[in-house]
Amino acid sequence: MVSGSDSHGTPITIRADQEKVTPKEIADRFHNQFLTTWDQLGITFDLFTNTQTENHQQAVHKIFTILLDKGYIYPETMELAHCSGCSRFLPDRYVEGTCPHCHQERARGDQCDLCGRTLDPKDLVSPQCTLCGLAPTFQNSEHFFLKLSEFQQPLLDWVNQQNHWRPNVVNFTRSFLESGLKDRAITRDLSWGVPVPVDGYDDKRIYVWFEAVIGYLSAAIEWAQNSNQPDRWKDFWQDSTTKSYYFIGKDNIPFHSIIWPAIIMGYGNHLNLPYDVPANEFLSLENRKFSTSQNWAVWLPDYLASYDPDPLRYLLSINMPEHGDADFSWAEFVRKNNDELVATYGNLVHRVLSFTYRNFSQVVPVPGTLTTADTLLLDTTLEIMDQVSNSLSHTRFKIALSQAFSLAQETNRYLNAQAPWQTIKTDLQRTATILNTSLKVLNCLKVILTPFLPFSSQCLHEYLGFDYHIDNDPWDFTYLVDAIRPGARLEQPKPLFIKLDDELIERETAKLGLHNT
Ligand SMILES: [Zn+2]
Ligand SMILES: [Zn+2]
Repeated sequence: MVSGSDSHGTPITIRADQEKVTPKEIADRFHNQFLTTWDQLGITFDLFTNTQTENHQQAVHKIFTILLDKGYIYPETMELAHCSGCSRFLPDRYVEGTCPHCHQERARGDQCDLCGRTLDPKDLVSPQCTLCGLAPTFQNSEHFFLKLSEFQQPLLDWVNQQNHWRPNVVNFTRSFLESGLKDRAITRDLSWGVPVPVDGYDDKRIYVWFEAVIGYLSAAIEWAQNSNQPDRWKDFWQDSTTKSYYFIGKDNIPFHSIIWPAIIMGYGNHLNLPYDVPANEFLSLENRKFSTSQNWAVWLPDYLASYDPDPLRYLLSINMPEHGDADFSWAEFVRKNNDELVATYGNLVHRVLSFTYRNFSQVVPVPGTLTTADTLLLDTTLEIMDQVSNSLSHTRFKIALSQAFSLAQETNRYLNAQAPWQTIKTDLQRTATILNTSLKVLNCLKVILTPFLPFSSQCLHEYLGFDYHIDNDPWDFTYLVDAIRPGARLEQPKPLFIKLDDELIERETAKLGLHNT
């Protein structure tokens, strides 16, 4: 699991221009913020690097040079946007205008947000310089082009075989390809970025959309070097049985389903094409598009200062825009926290643990003979563990989480029917068996919920008496059931989640759109 921040995107140079600092300073600042935030949210990578490393530059240069030798990259004179007001060539994102395909106004020079098409500033109707508002002129400059046109048919043939891709990704990619692939310039008149490995191009840089995708390969190489097994990256990139997944958002689809595969096809060297590109559709906030500049956003440092990470992870997972756009609202956040996290799961855990803790001397009770109800619940647990595992491996995350929660519901029904708070008055042995069975199920439930709710799963793991990190537990029913050993000490449990009140909704929605935050 590798990723990293793209250090050379135009938003970085725009921000650096505004703050009058170097692009490196901006890139490093945001990179470090990402690392801290990922950590606080329980999002972990084997390596989260960036594209400023020497290693990345080497990987980019190798691929560039081979594509150039094979004729898939060629130099040509092109007209580029130049602003007389700013006396400079304008990178694509410094030009905005009307999209020629869908007529969206203020489409960016590299891509239209509305229809998702990749664009060239020359395509825009009534283009403007985003720095000063003047209309740019187009002046000649020599650049390198990637011969994308050569890959149109091979890419179509390849995409048509990807029956396991999400329909939105296949459909977008196919219609993009069918409308015709044009060769695109992959260098720009910039001073920030990966240098061009050809003499006479000192004042130009390799453009970000060509080099950033190579970051997946260079990150794997860096990870292998860090692990002192410098050839291990080949297991992921050159073993044809490896399945590689690219987790991205909708606006990134063409770069991962067309451009990166075209680069790999041209480069050869037995590199694996993506196995799956499970792109999510868009998430809106209170039915409006997220906008950092208009402060229509949920700022993670702000969120994390007030609330636990798991409720946010829960809502974003159960409401993930996997197959269609979805909306985030604070009312939904409170409702799902209270009705699902607290009511279905948190209360279940708390009543089993605290009841056992109080009535069985703080240890796992010794079970007697299992009844049909006990065996049925354990069979269901095994079955649901398989279902969740299967859904995860098909990148169906919403379903996986609902399946895991159905085990919590099933266990609630079991407890209500078996009523240990009644049996304890007459039959201590039966009560011990019910609670022992429930603890076994909780030990499985904590594992299948770890991908979604890592922090509360770790808490539950500790309440169940384990003192190591939950990641060391295997996804194995028999192991997890056997790990609940009669007589083992339990820890005094606290509630996994707290109920949130409606005032939160007002407080958080009032912050949206304010400019002084
Ligand atoms: Zn458009
Ligand atoms: Zn200008």
